[in-house]
Amino acid sequence: GLEEHELGETNAGEVDEEAFDLVPEVESDGRETISLVVVGHVDAGKSTLNGHLLCLLGSVDQRTMHKYEKESKAIGKGSFAFAWVLDGHAEERERGVTIDVGVTHFKTEHRHVQLLDAPGHKDFVPSMISGAAQADAAILVIDGSTGEFESGFHSGGQTVEHAILVRSLGVQQMIVAVNKLDNVDYSKDRYEQIQDELSRFLVKAGFRASDVFFIPCRSKPFRGENLLQRKDARLTAWYDGPTLIELIDLLRPPPRPVDLPLRLSISDVFKTQAMGSCVAGRIEAGVLSPGAQVLLRPGDLTANVRSVQRHGNKVATAKAGDSVTVALTSIDFDQVQVGAFLCPPEAPIPLSSSFLAQILLFDIQEPVTLGYQATMYLQSTNEPVVVSKMLCTVKKSTGEVLKKRPRALPKHTTAVVQLTCNRPICVETFNDYKQLGRFTLRESGNTIAAGTIMKIVS
Ligand code: GDP
Repeated sequence: GLEEHELGETNAGEVDEEAFDLVPEVESDGRETISLVVVGHVDAGKSTLNGHLLCLLGSVDQRTMHKYEKESKAIGKGSFAFAWVLDGHAEERERGVTIDVGVTHFKTEHRHVQLLDAPGHKDFVPSMISGAAQADAAILVIDGSTGEFESGFHSGGQTVEHAILVRSLGVQQMIVAVNKLDNVDYSKDRYEQIQDELSRFLVKAGFRASDVFFIPCRSKPFRGENLLQRKDARLTAWYDGPTLIELIDLLRPPPRPVDLPLRLSISDVFKTQAMGSCVAGRIEAGVLSPGAQVLLRPGDLTANVRSVQRHGNKVATAKAGDSVTVALTSIDFDQVQVGAFLCPPEAPIPLSSSFLAQILLFDIQEPVTLGYQATMYLQSTNEPVVVSKMLCTVKKSTGEVLKKRPRALPKHTTAVVQLTCNRPICVETFNDYKQLGRFTLRESGNTIAAGTIMKIVS
């Protein structure tokens, strides 16, 4: 979150020792945690929606938001005001584009929501991938204005790419926010036309119809319409379903593998005055408490856990599903890198440089052949890989083998291949750790396949 980034570099000698007491858990309030990623075509209103959810429900006050809004208008990037609120990175401000996955949080009646901000710019799909890889559910924001839904949905728009990606990365539940309906006078026909086209597409992309929820809304100006409440007679005349917040409150947290050994994928590394050397990331499996000894892999460094923060509070235990900040001691911090894992020294995550994977090819131009090179995106990391064996093509729905030793894999094929990289990386099979066993392959800026790891070869 913002707090952790504020202070920047410090050296260990200046660390505020009091901040390090092994402080007590903030009493759990009974809310289950759910991680949400907001995706959609550029300018659909993702940042605006994110910003409003946070403003309306808690973690950013309106004054701060206004301040950011003014600042961003000053350099002509008004639409990114809320993205700034979310992660406030200097680099992003200069470029006017969100480049990182920001994590913020808010509460609904029954849920503690971790909101992962994923940018929509084409060049930034990789950070969307790491956002979506951590998400339990997605909000797909659609610009309902005349012509805009169409340009996001057809001809290379990101609506399609993002929906397919989040599904491939394991996200099962999706809220489709049909936004900017003010631009079409809250037309019911327009809403239903979009709902109709998109629901057919989403089912084809692998979502269960019962896990997709549509909502008409407007995310601008402040308070919006149908986010927390609705007032506009043009909408209330025909819509009496849930608000966005009510829908979010209904999302089901997936089962959390708390009984498996700890796996925390590091998505950020930084130092602060208050906490010292910290890593941030999501606990994919197991539990983590202050006082634990952990192993960092690759690299095999050990460290002690000084404190664990969840939702900005120190806790006595964090568990699978939680995005946390972990203060570490007894470690050469310069060697700690994004993409590494924290795991128990007695049950480390496997290292592998060659594994079998089932891949589903997207809409690629040229077929994939032996020796094909791509970049593999796995959790918070990426690594060059080469297709070193092509074992068979399979039927996606049943896994039935269609053809052994294929020579070329055309678009939309599902196949079992062996992937090899130059150095060992941390992997788990899909069978052992559902969320860790998923990856995507990209080449020349395009996402070409999604896959799952089946077996470690070496
Ligand atoms: P992003 O690229 O998806 O993050 O989109 P932004 O949140 O930056 O919004 C793009 C533009 O649409 C901005 O100028 C917003 O002010 C505007 N916008 C966002 N939501 C709405 C809405 O509900 N109605 C209208 N009319 N404009 C909106």
